[in-house]
Amino acid sequence: MAKTIIGRITLNLIAGIIITVVTVLATIFWMAARHNEAAAQSTETMVVGGVEAMGKRLQQLANDYAWWEEAYDAWKRGDAEWINANVGTGITDTSIADLLVIISPEGNVDYQWMIEGADDKVADIITPAFIATLRQVADKMPVDNSAARTGYVDTPSAPMMLGIQHITPFSHAKEVKSADLPILVFGQYVAGQRLADLGKSFLIDDLSFERGAAGPDPLVAVSDLAGRTLGHYQWTPPKPGDALLGKVLVPISVALLLFCGAALVTAMRARKLAIQVTDSEKEAVIAARTDSMTGLKNRMGFTELVSSSESAVACGEGNLAVIYLDVNGFKAVNDSIGHHGGDLLVKTLADRLTSVLVPGAVLARVGGDEFAVLMNGKATAVAASAAASAIVHSLDRPFTVAGFEFHVSAAVGYAVAEPGTLDPAELVRRADVAMYHAKAAAERDAVVYHPTMETGALEKKQVETGLRRAIEQNELQVVYQPVVRAGDLGMVAVEALVRWNSREFGAVSPALFIPVAEETGLIHDIGRFVIDRACRDLLRWPDMKVAINISPVQLREPNFANDLLAIVERHGLSPHQFELELTEGILVSNPTIAKRKLSTLKELGFALALDDFGTGFSSIGYLRQFPFDILKIDRSFVRDVGMNQTANALIQSLVSLGDAMNLDVIAEGIENEDQLGLLRLVQCEYVQGFHISRPVPAAEIDALLAGHLPARPARSTALAAGDAATLRLVGA
Ligand code: C2E
Ligand code: MG
Ligand code: MG
Repeated sequence: MAKTIIGRITLNLIAGIIITVVTVLATIFWMAARHNEAAAQSTETMVVGGVEAMGKRLQQLANDYAWWEEAYDAWKRGDAEWINANVGTGITDTSIADLLVIISPEGNVDYQWMIEGADDKVADIITPAFIATLRQVADKMPVDNSAARTGYVDTPSAPMMLGIQHITPFSHAKEVKSADLPILVFGQYVAGQRLADLGKSFLIDDLSFERGAAGPDPLVAVSDLAGRTLGHYQWTPPKPGDALLGKVLVPISVALLLFCGAALVTAMRARKLAIQVTDSEKEAVIAARTDSMTGLKNRMGFTELVSSSESAVACGEGNLAVIYLDVNGFKAVNDSIGHHGGDLLVKTLADRLTSVLVPGAVLARVGGDEFAVLMNGKATAVAASAAASAIVHSLDRPFTVAGFEFHVSAAVGYAVAEPGTLDPAELVRRADVAMYHAKAAAERDAVVYHPTMETGALEKKQVETGLRRAIEQNELQVVYQPVVRAGDLGMVAVEALVRWNSREFGAVSPALFIPVAEETGLIHDIGRFVIDRACRDLLRWPDMKVAINISPVQLREPNFANDLLAIVERHGLSPHQFELELTEGILVSNPTIAKRKLSTLKELGFALALDDFGTGFSSIGYLRQFPFDILKIDRSFVRDVGMNQTANALIQSLVSLGDAMNLDVIAEGIENEDQLGLLRLVQCEYVQGFHISRPVPAAEIDALLAGHLPARPARSTALAAGDAATLRLVGA
């Protein structure tokens, strides 16, 4: 499109230049030709006029000299003397004629005179034929003082113009007849100097007489008295047009050249400008689709890529996958080292994400802290799962920005096309939905889209049915997360956390299904399952304590404490090995019963932990009424540690408070070395979190206790060698 515009501009300009040059030159040449033509015409008119004027003069001369009484008388007398003196002398002095002849009515030559030095002899001119012709002409002429005639006669050297008149005695002119009168003839050569002089008066250099037929040039034909063609006057017409051309051609050519030059320069400039405009248009199009900070595609670029026909085809074949990730932790960087640092982190992060992706996967930054990946190719389902997982784990290592270390985490969701059913935009939406589910999950694993996610949260009814089946079909599992001493990271306990890997829904977060289980009463079955499982596993870890989360609904059950004791004892274990984690909810809704139940449990030997401390509304004084042994500071407090002074002060006061109440304090959600460092600084005794270890299957706790840690399993894992924190065994 742009190319054709540039081409058109160039073509138009060149056409314009050519048209201008041709028009100007044609006009000049045409004008010169017209000028020449006009000059030729005017010289012709002038020559004709000049010759006519010559004739007129001869006519006048003949009239003047012939219409003369005395002349007639002198002729009558045969007085050549008189004629010589009165006519001949006059013409000799004035060179007005070259020949003078008087012919009698009978055709005799009565008088003849010829200019000296003429090329011809008189006899050659005045031949009998000449005389006869003259008489014929004169006899037809009326007797009149203005009737003189002119005409040409040929001579051997050149044509001669004649003026002919009767010599008339005017006193009785009325009585005489033409045929009875003698005739006076003046002759004048129209050749040589006379013709040259005539020509010069019209600015013609070469006016000449030529015998024979006419040529192509301007000419005036000459015929004798009998009507025979003698020849013609001929001359080279002046060419003022050529002269004009000679004068203007150089300056006009120079002007045209300058014009062409200027036009060409303008054309080149216009072309360059057009190219620049096209280029900058192209750049703008690219820029509008590129994230300036990372050089990745931005949302617009990503959307375009997703809506391309290529993506549509791949999607229809089930060969397309979209991964969405929302990164947490930028705020901390911006708050601590400013926006420039935040920008650097984004760049580093983009590089790291790119480095873990397979070639062909396109990473885009679709928002401030949101990224998306489009994968197109065979076996995308497997590739997308691997890529999503790789993205999650690529964030395990901290980022170093401006000399500081930062940890970021990401909620990662992805969706894979199903053959023939989807359009790419829908795939993006699904990946987004999956990402929101990943955000809600406590575990930082990548979440694959599942249709049950559509209702926002899983439909209670569906969860309930699914959960019932899960309990029956053993879909529930228990994983354990180590609780360690902050100082030396010695493992003192593990927290049992239930997991539901549904065949139907995928991995469902306990944060999602525990509330449904509580509402439907299924929590009792789940609770029993977890306790039972924990007891079995604990048998292998005799020196270890296990923390079990107890829902308020379970606690409300009248026989809860006894049932619990029964299970524990059935496994041959002691309640002292158990810590029961409770949240504030129960204490607020029914404090009297809660106090009694807690006291019972405590009396039986179970340790009691207040979970998620700090998120409720209870005052410290109020909490003192309950017989807790352990305070678990909620991970929302730990998250902000290191970011600002208030957060540091807050965690410090929470730890001091626990100490003052003589409780063991555990800080939850330790995700990085900085947080661990600060908690050590405020002398928090125990910590728990992904930085120490993710919740892991019992077998991994076995391995941990046996002293050989797994290298780093793909998903949830204990710490690998080389990480900041190194887990030690109890008592080590
Ligand atoms: P909770 O008791 O506070 O458990 C700790 C939760 O934090 C776990 O999520 C654990 O995976 C997560 N977590 C541990 N370290 C970190 C960390 O460093 N960073 C982050 N972001 N998270 C961390 P999970 O397993 O999804 O459990 C969520 C909640 O569901 C638990 O919170 C607990 O209230 C409840 N729950 C889990 N298992 C059971 C159970 O067997 N019975 C009952 N009644 N409730 C349970
Ligand atoms: Mg807990
Ligand atoms: Mg907790």
